Amino acid sequence: LEDYVQEDILKFEDSFRGITKRYRLINRIGEGTFSTVYKAEDLHYHLYKNDWDTEEREESKWSPPPAKGRPIRRPKPRYVAIKKIYVTSSPLRILNELELLHDLKESDSVCPLITAFRHHDQVIAILPYFQHRDFREYFRDFTVPEMRQYFHSLFTALKAVHEHKILHRDIKPTNFLYSPTRARGVLVDFGLAEREGTDWHPCNCQLPSAERQHRVQTSLYATKLQQSDNPHQTPSFPKNDNRPSRRANRAGTRGFRAPEVLLKCTAQTTLIDVWSVGIVLLTLLTRRFPFFHSADDIDALLELGTAFGKRRLAQTAFLHGQVFETNIPTISENGHTFEKIILWCTGRSKERDGKGGLSSEEKEAVEFLKRCLELEPGKRITAAEALRHPFLVGRGE
Ligand code: ADP
Ligand code: MG
Repeated sequence: LEDYVQEDILKFEDSFRGITKRYRLINRIGEGTFSTVYKAEDLHYHLYKNDWDTEEREESKWSPPPAKGRPIRRPKPRYVAIKKIYVTSSPLRILNELELLHDLKESDSVCPLITAFRHHDQVIAILPYFQHRDFREYFRDFTVPEMRQYFHSLFTALKAVHEHKILHRDIKPTNFLYSPTRARGVLVDFGLAEREGTDWHPCNCQLPSAERQHRVQTSLYATKLQQSDNPHQTPSFPKNDNRPSRRANRAGTRGFRAPEVLLKCTAQTTLIDVWSVGIVLLTLLTRRFPFFHSADDIDALLELGTAFGKRRLAQTAFLHGQVFETNIPTISENGHTFEKIILWCTGRSKERDGKGGLSSEEKEAVEFLKRCLELEPGKRITAAEALRHPFLVGRGE
């Protein structure tokens, strides 16, 4: 172990009373925005394994079934992930994460919560350790058949989450621990997740389209994106904008936020997660990670505009009671097709080699991609429908 990791582990062991009696810390495996995650061995596992029925079930779920005649008390260690939630997180937020994980404990493809502890202001969540590979190691050479397996697994997890009426809100590769060899993954990190309907207010997007027209004309939220006179300055909101600000949950990770999140839709649904999955698929097909990366929402909308075109983005903005207008020259009226984007990103262009289009497998993937990246949430495929889509049917069994 690196010295600084060793030091960090020692510091944690010293500060959290009793932890070393129960767990042997092995390594630091993750450092996110909201927590540090350690791999550890559960030292008590053998003590209660015989009579703790749920533990037995966990065991069978996370490791191969025991060989016939093998004694129940076996020396094989059980590994856990200890998620040390930063003390700056609000107690409500921490409770929310633990509660939602508890709700989802029966879902195979969601990493279950084993237990949680608190010492003073420090809360730790204990999860089974899931062996996986870092997305950055394999995204460049994932084949289409591998993509089918990956998304079958991811959508299976998402379907379970959505059936519980929970929005994950932060779907991205680092929150889906995937093992290519086992063609299986689990969803983690419910730190931003929320129940459907939390913070919900009617939005224009739910109105019948005739009524929508009228509302937008009188909208308080019309936003014009202009290129400023100074070409080095990025476009932004008008300077003297004294319209009341609109509040909507925009939690998530840059590059993965659905258009309705960026457009401050107040009636967001589980379909925001499907968009994020679509971005992961776009990443794999283009072999560009991250695909979109703008830090602020306005720039992120402009990125979407570049890909999808001014016309479609304006329609989407309109749907949520906003106006999208821009005079930035790189944003064309109709944008680009996914096919063109993929060919361009992977260095194949029709011009250069006569037959260099997408393979038939890639074309199937693009058909599926279009369904995930529908700008209008009402038209986007649901997780349950995705599992019935030809691209995924029969995969992952
Ligand atoms: P954060 O809220 O800080 O992003 P996560 O729950 O996403 O925390 O965990 C951060 C990282 O820790 C993950 O991206 C993953 O690499 C690792 N990790 C989390 N849970 C597990 C687990 N059960 N098994 C293995 N690794 C895990
Ligand atoms: Mg995370």
